[in-house]
Amino acid sequence: MGKLSPEQRHKQMAAIRGKDTKPELLVRRGLWKRGFRYRLNHKRLPGHPDIVLRKYRTCIFVNGCFWHGHNVAVAQVNSTVLVGDSECCKMPKSNREFWVAKILRNKERDKAEQRKLAEMGWHCITVWECELKPAKREETLESIAFTLNHIWLQDHGVKVNYRTPPDEEDKQLPMAAEDNEIKR
Ligand SMILES: [Zn+2]
Repeated sequence: MGKLSPEQRHKQMAAIRGKDTKPELLVRRGLWKRGFRYRLNHKRLPGHPDIVLRKYRTCIFVNGCFWHGHNVAVAQVNSTVLVGDSECCKMPKSNREFWVAKILRNKERDKAEQRKLAEMGWHCITVWECELKPAKREETLESIAFTLNHIWLQDHGVKVNYRTPPDEEDKQLPMAAEDNEIKR
């Protein structure tokens, strides 16, 4: 192993850290930690899904918010397509038309690919970059795990009945008259 100067080592570590925080890697690590096993970039599947879980018949796409137009509002007025920026996808001001067209194309392609996958019997999960920010990351990973387990149970004909916990149910009931009496 060659010796590295402190500066070189610093650079190397920074490079590794940068790589480790890539959204796709975060999802992979999160799934692995939760016991899910997967394959990467399935070249033969439409859209080359980032992560493929054969056991769950599920493809996961980890999407950058800008390139895939997360949450942008699209409206057609006569022949004009209007696109409203979202918090995580803001179209550049200069050359806006070009970017709008490009991002809409990407969105259309994503939709078409997921439709094809669905026809082939695959489930698709889209994970957005902004959902992987440190504050939301664990929640997002938990919800992916939940969805995968749910998919597996459904595909295997297990009836899933998610009941609201009893105390939650109580809260939803209109308060009984006596309760009001007592409170007063
Ligand atoms: Zn986003």
